[in-house]
Amino acid sequence: MATTPESPVLQHRTSPSRHDIDDQFEGPVPFESWGRYPLYGSTLVPLSWQTDYPKVLQDHNGMPTGALAVGMGRSYGDSCLLKDGNLLVATGMNRLLSFDKEQGILTAEAGLTLAQLLDFAVPHGWFLPVSPGTKYVTLGGAVANDIHGKNHHLAGTFGSHVTQFELVRSDGQRLHCSPTDNPDWFAATIGGLGLTGVLTWIQLRLKPIVSRLIDYEGIQFHGVDEFLALTEQYKHVEYTVSWVDVTSTGKNFARGIFMLGDHSKIPDPLPTSPKPKLVFPFDAPGFALNSATVSLFNTAFFHKQVKPCVRALQDYEPFFYPLDKVLHWNRMYGKSGLLQFQYAIPWANAREGTIAILNEVAKSGLASFLAVLKAFGDVPSPGMMSFPQPGITLALDFPIKPEKSFALFDRLASMTLEFGGKLYPAKDARMTAQQFQTSYPQWQQFARYKDPLLTSSFWERVTAVG
Ligand SMILES: Cc1cc2nc3c(=O)[nH]c(=O)nc-3n(C[C@H](O)[C@H](O)[C@H](O)COP(=O)(O)OP(=O)(O)OC[C@H]3O[C@@H](n4cnc5c(N)ncnc54)[C@H](O)[C@@H]3O)c2cc1C
Repeated sequence: MATTPESPVLQHRTSPSRHDIDDQFEGPVPFESWGRYPLYGSTLVPLSWQTDYPKVLQDHNGMPTGALAVGMGRSYGDSCLLKDGNLLVATGMNRLLSFDKEQGILTAEAGLTLAQLLDFAVPHGWFLPVSPGTKYVTLGGAVANDIHGKNHHLAGTFGSHVTQFELVRSDGQRLHCSPTDNPDWFAATIGGLGLTGVLTWIQLRLKPIVSRLIDYEGIQFHGVDEFLALTEQYKHVEYTVSWVDVTSTGKNFARGIFMLGDHSKIPDPLPTSPKPKLVFPFDAPGFALNSATVSLFNTAFFHKQVKPCVRALQDYEPFFYPLDKVLHWNRMYGKSGLLQFQYAIPWANAREGTIAILNEVAKSGLASFLAVLKAFGDVPSPGMMSFPQPGITLALDFPIKPEKSFALFDRLASMTLEFGGKLYPAKDARMTAQQFQTSYPQWQQFARYKDPLLTSSFWERVTAVG
């Protein structure tokens, strides 16, 4: 595998990031995760070449306070933060290393973003095998959280499409990992929260497409049972996801729009996407998002689709990444930020748990602006610590109002565990050590693969004793 500084630069840091950090590598500076909570100072250390790590340790006195590789900081909570530690920012290590146009096998450095990958691959007729709700995440981040997308029920997680990668330990050991080469390190690193080592390059298998268009259908539903019936009816369709109105009660309780789609089979030109132009310009005042404004938004969103069912051919950008249209949209929540909550509840309790949690949210009067409901499938994930499991997942976000949103989050987290579910570390800033250790009982086995230098504020929190 090429590791030389001569490797071609595929893209540069043009994709939008809050990490416009080139001038800020000295001393502790704030590094925000997407939820902007918690906010910690860290020393930012850029990784530009695959050989930089662990060499950078010498320049930083061995990093006695610990370190963590990070990508675009698109995790919501503290899994990409390290209070008073060193963040090894990998976005400068973003070269494309090789591409097999016939087979769709792509190898790139871990700091390449999915946006950069798509800019390259789509014109060649290839697409991501699994795509999250934003394209501004790095390959390293996608592997470390073993992310999932709208096709989880058929394609499994991102890690299911990774064929090999290199993992570098702080003692300088370079491990080549694949399902057959160091398979235990492969499993520990996929969904391993960046704690097993630094990923330098990653190889994955892409998916062929002949068009940018998605054959889209949106179907209104009323209640969790209708959502479940649609899930069953459309389980053969590649992408399915639902928006759910969590503010309405009574006859409108859990109404929503079931969205499904597949890549169009009709050949069409495959240009790259235009660059986004809209930027949320300032931190909105704390009162801007309240239950009244969110409730109005939800009603408008539900009725935006006037007919119970609509079909359309839609570009993949608004289908996969509607939120990416406005850069820095998290500023809409103001300076205090937002709290994400995402559970996975197994099928045995999925219906009951989802109804109970949606009821609790509606009752709280704390409106969630974005509420996403989806059924996970049973394709096994290759990751030891991966989040998805067969059942229902629900993602919600709340503006941070400590006295209200923290209490609601804590209630929802307890309910999730009572229903046998678990929370997603990539979205979390509140899970207790007991909750983490109960719902990820394999964590001690995983801890054997943790690099002694690497840690995160999330890991310190959820493994704290007492
Ligand atoms: C709008 C939005 C929508 C989202 N939708 C989804 C979704 O649909 N499905 C889903 O699963 N997630 C989703 N996410 C979460 C996001 O996909 C993950 O948090 C992802 O891991 C972020 O990648 P990143 O590059 O920003 O990494 P960061 O957030 O910076 O880091 C995430 C983890 O990756 C590790 N890491 C990063 N680079 C390296 C490296 N080179 N070596 C080792 N470890 C590394 C870090 O240590 C950390 O543990 C969404 C996030 C947003 C903001």
